[in-house]
Amino acid sequence: MNHRPNSLRISDVAHSMHPYTNMRLHEEKGPMIMTEGNGARVTDSEGKEYIEGLAGLWSVAVGFSETRLADAAYAQLKRLPYYHSFAHKAHEPSIRLAEKLVEMTPEGLNRVFFTNSGSEANDTVVKMAWFLNNGLGRPEKKKFLSRTKAYHGITIASGSLTGLAGNQKDFDLPAIPVTHLTCPHYWRYGEEGESETEFTARLLKELEDTIIAEGPETIAGFIGEPVMGAGGVMTPPEGYWPGVVEICHKYDILVVSDEVINGFGRTGERFGCEKYGFTPDILVTSKQLTSSYMPLAAIVVNDKVYNAIADNTAKLGNFGHGFTGTGHPVACAVGLENLNIIEERDLMGNAKRLEPLFQDGLRAFAEMFQDGLRAFADHPLIGEIRGVGLIAGLEMADKKTGVGLIAGLEMADKKTKQPFGKPGAVAAKVVALAAEEGLICRNVYEVALAAEDGLICRNVYDTVALCPPLIVTEDDVREIHARLGRALDRALDWAKSEGML
Ligand code: PMP
Repeated sequence: MNHRPNSLRISDVAHSMHPYTNMRLHEEKGPMIMTEGNGARVTDSEGKEYIEGLAGLWSVAVGFSETRLADAAYAQLKRLPYYHSFAHKAHEPSIRLAEKLVEMTPEGLNRVFFTNSGSEANDTVVKMAWFLNNGLGRPEKKKFLSRTKAYHGITIASGSLTGLAGNQKDFDLPAIPVTHLTCPHYWRYGEEGESETEFTARLLKELEDTIIAEGPETIAGFIGEPVMGAGGVMTPPEGYWPGVVEICHKYDILVVSDEVINGFGRTGERFGCEKYGFTPDILVTSKQLTSSYMPLAAIVVNDKVYNAIADNTAKLGNFGHGFTGTGHPVACAVGLENLNIIEERDLMGNAKRLEPLFQDGLRAFAEMFQDGLRAFADHPLIGEIRGVGLIAGLEMADKKTGVGLIAGLEMADKKTKQPFGKPGAVAAKVVALAAEEGLICRNVYEVALAAEDGLICRNVYDTVALCPPLIVTEDDVREIHARLGRALDRALDWAKSEGML
């Protein structure tokens, strides 16, 4: 039994190029091969079971063994495994899923365009905005506004909208006209003595000043994740989103809500825009749309966007954009069944019900740590704990030296918020120890690159992210806390032994 996983390891190291991986390190370390999933748990090739604390990549809402999704895929594969949607062709799964998405998304979002990934969706959004503005006779209105630490994907346009150096350095990005505004993270970017409301007002002023300075006639859209995900799990400050929408609409700038992580209950509400009280012109979803059982993303647009695009297609005779896999019938059939399961089992309600246990438990977790500490928030490695619904980020601090330490839980000194000296190493340690404790979580960070460029501090982040499947139970949540707590405590011992504390 051992020989197959071993040969898989050897083969992987010999033949595969992994995304988001230090390939030279991978040659030494080899892969962690997953073999099975059951509910909120996955098993590796050594037979070790883990709680999947990041739902794969923030995406497996219904858990890892949902046979209804397998059945939906198989039924569609037998009936019509593939058809496209080009040039007036259609099939039932994509028609039904579009209808369902219009029903589920906020009032006014009435048309759906499918892609295979979130990155392709955001590239499509950029192209839609360019296409419609050309059609409307305003060829200068092309720029996008985004935020530092935003994550919108990695293709040429979406990777330009992303506001992380790690996705841009040496890729020659940004490659489209985009301005990155201040990240709306009060804890790190709020100034000394500034209240949260004042912080919001400052960011909104920055937005309006930027629009006026660059010229509203040059700006096509503003894109943002309601809760920022891969940039470190940041919830927006009070009043931020309604303010953004008001200013953008004043200058005829489209508002794009990137709900690739937020969508379908992650924040405790159906969509992040509903949680934060705004309606976008364009809403982008993926991930929990199919629980990642199949690759699929959907762009849902309002009538204003649709009509401007449709008019231009009438003028040109075509919308010269689309993928072979646009609205793939198997992916759409799985998506439809997945959304039915989310609704039938009230998984969005489950996220809302478990929010207090999950979030408050992280903030005030008892009797876990050495030295008589009784709360995560008091832990010497932790600077800030943040999150909403079933998504959280923990940022750490070395209180003694004032130098930030770990990644994954964002680590920085509580006062200076400076990252630790060797942030990558400690972060990797926390995540590795959590895995030993039977919990998969993810450290998202940008420290090394930023440090290399002398950018240490304000754009650095080093956060441990948690984003469990929506099917988790109270017991699962308590187990997540317990396992992470043990990993943090062991990381603290390690950091002390390394002389970091
Ligand atoms: N937007 C957001 C908010 C995301 O979190 C992601 C993926 N993490 C993407 C876009 C890109 O999606 P994909 O990886 O499917 O291209």
